[in-house]
Amino acid sequence: MTYDYNLLVIGGGAAGFFSALSAAESAPNMKIGLLEKSGKLLSKVRISGGGRCNVTNAQEQIKIFSKSYPRGEKFMYKLLHQFNQRNTIEWFMERGVKLHAEPDGRMFPISNDSSSIVDCLMNEAEKAKIQIQLHSGLQSFEVVENGFVVQTSTGSISTQFLLLATGGHQHAKDYQWIKEKGINITEPVPSLFTFNVPNHPMKDLMGVATDVRIKIDKTKLQETGPLLVTHWGFSGPAVLRCSAWGARTLAEQQYNFQPRINWLPDLNQDEVADFLLQQKEYSGKRKTIQRVFDGIPQRLWEYLLVRADIDHESIWMDQKNATIRRLAEIITSDPYTVSGKTTFKEEFVTSGGVSLDEIDAQTCMSKSIKGLFFAGEVLDSDGITGGFNFQQAWSSGWIAGKSVAKQFNTIKYSS
Ligand SMILES: Cc1cc2nc3c(=O)[nH]c(=O)nc-3n(C[C@H](O)[C@H](O)[C@H](O)COP(=O)(O)OP(=O)(O)OC[C@H]3O[C@@H](n4cnc5c(N)ncnc54)[C@H](O)[C@@H]3O)c2cc1C
Repeated sequence: MTYDYNLLVIGGGAAGFFSALSAAESAPNMKIGLLEKSGKLLSKVRISGGGRCNVTNAQEQIKIFSKSYPRGEKFMYKLLHQFNQRNTIEWFMERGVKLHAEPDGRMFPISNDSSSIVDCLMNEAEKAKIQIQLHSGLQSFEVVENGFVVQTSTGSISTQFLLLATGGHQHAKDYQWIKEKGINITEPVPSLFTFNVPNHPMKDLMGVATDVRIKIDKTKLQETGPLLVTHWGFSGPAVLRCSAWGARTLAEQQYNFQPRINWLPDLNQDEVADFLLQQKEYSGKRKTIQRVFDGIPQRLWEYLLVRADIDHESIWMDQKNATIRRLAEIITSDPYTVSGKTTFKEEFVTSGGVSLDEIDAQTCMSKSIKGLFFAGEVLDSDGITGGFNFQQAWSSGWIAGKSVAKQFNTIKYSS
């Protein structure tokens, strides 16, 4: 049979580009097409990491790296044995893009500009002669003898191998065209979202960033790290990590839950109370407005005093012990009510999608449909913040592309 393409990749994001490039490298004679339904390629790469693109993470140990995936830890462990963060760093370096690590492990291009990554991928795709069609969305596909026929918004296309890198979607109905081929889909829910705390005076602290511990009442969820106060509630790595580990639990609670914040994550309530009671004894004439903990920014300190009904101009020796204990409780276990999901479109990834039971981790090929491959966020595997989601796209894309090339070369040279 003659095909329009040997490999047709659906989706012009990180995973789609990486799989097409990986296949082209090992099978340069393969005719590769890439369809993108929108008018833009690599749009998430461009906006990622605040425009800097957090490409991967510096964690070198595969076992530890794979623990950053609330969904798909074991799957990622297998993928990372084939293509891990070191391979990502080398891949981009060999193509002229050096990455650097920040102290928290996040890795960015040294330009600190996502266009370095976008340009690199676009140049490589041009060199590899990948035929890209914009405004061409897959609507459905049929499995035919030794290949596939894809229906798009602009017509039908035949291909020997089909690789789906269509990213995450909010609603189960958006996966229907995959599901109707008998492939299991795990219900999609958002991950990496911020917390919506409506009508709370805390919003006056917008812009305050500090290290905290967050615990979510009636769950086992707890995270320590930076928190940022926004005009709608809370954001920052600790919040995003909580939402990632709790993506399913918090969805079940319809995003109505109570986080408690310890503004001094290294201390417990008794330790904070003891320290504050010492202020009364040793610094009795000092005004309470002068903050006593370096870890609490001044604006936040003033707000916490108000929460404990302590006058800013009052002095420590005038405080009742009960008031001081109340302040210690607010500092270490400050309760909030999250109500509904934020409308600020802060979701970074979808949890859910093509069930990992359906995929062979050695090849990223469907176990039930030969010649059909998956890569990236379309799979039910997602990570916490820190470059783990792009690494999932690079690893699965690289493996899927190499597997296609291997099968193509085997068929070609054995026939
Ligand atoms: C604001 C933001 C910032 C982020 N920052 C980071 C970061 O710094 N580091 C990190 O690791 N992760 C980050 N992420 C997550 C990361 O962007 C994703 O994990 C990654 O882009 C997934 O790549 P993908 O190729 O699988 O999917 P996508 O990037 O979503 O690409 C899928 C593509 O397929 C196209 N498509 C969908 N359906 C069809 C169809 N039927 N036919 C044709 N085309 C179709 C879509 O239009 C899209 O272009 C961020 C996400 C967001 C939203």
